[in-house]
Amino acid sequence: MSTATPTRICVIGAGAAGLASAATLRRAGAEVTVLERLKVGSAWAARYDCLQLHTVRWLSGLPGYGIPRSSGKWPSRDAVVDYLRAYATRNDLDVLTGAPVARVDREGDGWTVRVAGGEDVRATRVVVATGYSNVPYLPEWPGTFAGELVHSSAYRHGGPYLGRRVLVVGAGNSGAEIAIDVARAGASEVLLAVKTAPGLIRRDTLGVPSQLLGIASARLPVGMVDRIAATLRRAAFGDLSELGLAAPDRPYSEFLRRRVIPIVDVGLVRAVKDGRVAVVAALERFDDGKPVLADGCYFIGLGNVDMWYRGTLRVESRDGQVFASGDLYAFDLSSSGMAEQIVG
Ligand SMILES: Cc1cc2nc3c(=O)[nH]c(=O)nc-3n(C[C@H](O)[C@H](O)[C@H](O)COP(=O)(O)OP(=O)(O)OC[C@H]3O[C@@H](n4cnc5c(N)ncnc54)[C@H](O)[C@@H]3O)c2cc1C
Repeated sequence: MSTATPTRICVIGAGAAGLASAATLRRAGAEVTVLERLKVGSAWAARYDCLQLHTVRWLSGLPGYGIPRSSGKWPSRDAVVDYLRAYATRNDLDVLTGAPVARVDREGDGWTVRVAGGEDVRATRVVVATGYSNVPYLPEWPGTFAGELVHSSAYRHGGPYLGRRVLVVGAGNSGAEIAIDVARAGASEVLLAVKTAPGLIRRDTLGVPSQLLGIASARLPVGMVDRIAATLRRAAFGDLSELGLAAPDRPYSEFLRRRVIPIVDVGLVRAVKDGRVAVVAALERFDDGKPVLADGCYFIGLGNVDMWYRGTLRVESRDGQVFASGDLYAFDLSSSGMAEQIVG
């Protein structure tokens, strides 16, 4: 049964998009109700503790009320949540929280928005602003992992990983930041499994946010942006191909082709150069409870070495550094060149 509530426009979702739409529509004279399944800004509130905006504060605000200066150049997760809540209050938005929309039906000349466990809302227009990154995606790798498998949406901080070996799968921005975070928190070993070498940009150069180049690039010839981006990357990071992070020749064309946002470097490159995070091949499957990487390398616990090789091993890098003696790190004994010799 529809309980008519006199709402002209119903916005579903009280994240940045929903709040900005609601405030703008309201300013234009519409009557607007926002339905939010949890709380205002809950998508941001649920993200990992160390998250900061990659987009600079003064280009990240919503219409009519920017993010306060006190949030700094790169506002933290909590500052973003506070801002979204202040934005709703300041714009006097009618937000119904704890109102999960289950479905929307066309009825007569309008819509009936059905709230699970709540009253239906009638609207002439509906804005769906439920976010594009709120449903975790976990690929179905063949086999079963014997360890703990955690999706990035459930990751909060590195505390639980102290002294543990961690394989972070996927080199997007979340993967890169989580790899650094667990390394900082004292994980005994951190590997970052990379399928396609990611684009890499600095968050800013000499104080100028890379976001500005991103905005300008839409108006510049693709070849010119490619040259600028390749030069900036070379100048910022040098050649990382030996470390598993080869640079594309034409970074901007590659971005246009794949539509994958480059990693905004907030410490990954330093961590890879220092050996706190090691880049390895993509995760392919689980075998006997253990990850197997696309280059055929096993990622196994040191205690399980004899499952792979029986005997005492000594693994050296080109500069003579001993990576394992008596024990074996069974990753990266591949063509990537980290291990020069294996002495049985
Ligand atoms: C790790 C990470 C870092 C990011 N960093 C940046 C950055 O630095 N700069 C930037 O511009 N963007 C960044 N983004 C992208 C960012 O998520 C978006 O810019 C912004 O949060 C999207 O806002 P949104 O309103 O579309 O969605 P969301 O913020 O996801 O909000 C959607 C809202 O809809 C609600 N909802 C969902 N389903 C229902 C339902 N059925 N009924 C009622 N309510 C519902 C949710 O609870 C949520 O509150 C980042 C994203 C991630 C994942």
